[in-house]
Amino acid sequence: MKKTLVIHTGGTISMKENPDGSVVETDSHPLSSEDLLKSHSIEEENVFHLPSPHVTPAHMLTLANYMKEKVSSGKYAGIVVTHGTDTLEETAYFVDLCVNTAIPIVFTGAMRSSNELGSDGLYNLICAIRVASHRKSIQRGVLVVMNDEIHTAQYVTKTSTSNVATFQSPQFGPVGMVTKQDVYYYQKTYHEEIFDISALSKNVLLLKAYAGMPKELIEMMDPAKTDGLIIEALGQGNVPPSIVPAIQHLLQHNVTVLLVSRCYKGIVQPTYQYEGGGRTLLDEGVIFANHLNGPKARLKLMLLLENDASHQEMINAFKD
Ligand code: ASP
Repeated sequence: MKKTLVIHTGGTISMKENPDGSVVETDSHPLSSEDLLKSHSIEEENVFHLPSPHVTPAHMLTLANYMKEKVSSGKYAGIVVTHGTDTLEETAYFVDLCVNTAIPIVFTGAMRSSNELGSDGLYNLICAIRVASHRKSIQRGVLVVMNDEIHTAQYVTKTSTSNVATFQSPQFGPVGMVTKQDVYYYQKTYHEEIFDISALSKNVLLLKAYAGMPKELIEMMDPAKTDGLIIEALGQGNVPPSIVPAIQHLLQHNVTVLLVSRCYKGIVQPTYQYEGGGRTLLDEGVIFANHLNGPKARLKLMLLLENDASHQEMINAFKD
């Protein structure tokens, strides 16, 4: 029987709480010795041991390459990754874009450290292993399992700072659930395109739009050192007129400017033709990105730029 590979990368799931309430990193993974885990056929590896705010796209690429090697060995029925919850959705989406496999890949984490009352780490890990070793999870792309719910890497986001039900997919909801007996899916999932890259060299920045936003925030960017800018725009994809000339300047210097919405539901669309309105921005060459939040759109744009995608290819890549 093939095993499930569990890859640890750090985060609260591998941390302990001090008597004063502060949370510290542990040297080894504190969950590995648990009896509950012994009843599952797993193999464990530590790829890095970091709080997730320390994780960079370079770490994500290291992890994706490591996972590609493990997948091609043909030894595993599925892979679980434990990760800090702060940037879990970004790493999960990056892996979704870079690792091409039918076997289930499931990310999980914890909101409470391993020795805290009501700790959710071991429970989430067991659920993630059950999902990753389930035949119904094959060919679904990268999944995130927390708090009895199954989400896709593309749509899931951390919604609460401390609640164990923090991971939600605001637009479409979870794709499945885990019960004591079984794993259930009630939405079809589709897998995104795959990027084959060996390095990450592009500088893509992210800003959130707000009323009265000063142009200096964008003017500070050196177009010679900037490959792309994601703006979490207002509503359907509009920005304050104050920043329009700075956006035009970036576009004239071949910096890709991409809009997502700062609303967490709905899609962006070029509707308004006033200054700073989406329709006007589209005519200037700004690209609209649907169904992704700012940090995930940034990762996808980094990969597209790395592959020298044309303007039209980028429009297509962010349309659906
Ligand atoms: N700050 C922690 C981290 O992301 C939170 C967690 O793991 O839940 O590493």
